[in-house]
Amino acid sequence: MQLTIQRTEAIVTYEVPFQTPTLLQALYHIKQQIDPSLTFNSNCRSGVCGTCSVRVNGREQLACAYRLTEGDHIEPLRYHAVERDLKVDKSEARATLQQSQAWLQSSHDAVITKQAVKLTEKQSDCILCDSCYSACPVLAVNPNFIGPFALTRVYRYSTDPREADAKPAIDAIQTNGIWDCTLCGECTAVCPQGIDPKMDIMMLRSTSAQFGYSDPNFSSMSFGGFGDFGGFQ
Ligand code: SF4
Ligand code: SF4
Repeated sequence: MQLTIQRTEAIVTYEVPFQTPTLLQALYHIKQQIDPSLTFNSNCRSGVCGTCSVRVNGREQLACAYRLTEGDHIEPLRYHAVERDLKVDKSEARATLQQSQAWLQSSHDAVITKQAVKLTEKQSDCILCDSCYSACPVLAVNPNFIGPFALTRVYRYSTDPREADAKPAIDAIQTNGIWDCTLCGECTAVCPQGIDPKMDIMMLRSTSAQFGYSDPNFSSMSFGGFGDFGGFQ
């Protein structure tokens, strides 16, 4: 079976045996049998740690879970500094958790009901694979956009019954945050954990409205002056 890999210097074609069902096994085969210089991220090898995410044919995938098909093209994640070949530096993307203050702001005692746990059970499953971040088209035009996984985490903590005051976190996501999202759903489509960051962002918009915020894009639109019935300008 043939696959191509976007390596640091060039796109390289490799032949791997059909008995290498997952992409990660194919990458290890190449490294051990063909070219030891091939570099990629991997850790648990079982879909738990989120380390081995790459792009396959333009779509984000966990290499350990993806079943290889003939002619697949493999690239590193987008919007990450490439250290070498498929190995990327995730520290800049990870800094969005700090930027968005994605944690409990001021906790108080609260009864945690099963219902409350259910509300954010999915979001708590995030493995920080950065697939949603790489898939988001907004980061191509605004590198300062907080991005989907951090916003999902803000939603997770702002709805936690132990949160006494979510306002600082809601304040932190007004600029380069929830209103910059186009609601395209790419993040939701690629998440290996079944998390829906797009929905979480919509919920955060609703919470923001309760704190007195409104969509800045909408408020800056002009609807025409007196005598102008031409609609949007
Ligand atoms: S829904 Fe929003 S956060 Fe998700 S990929 Fe689209 S623009 Fe990015
Ligand atoms: S939300 Fe999903 S795609 Fe995004 S980092 Fe978490 S697990 Fe990965």
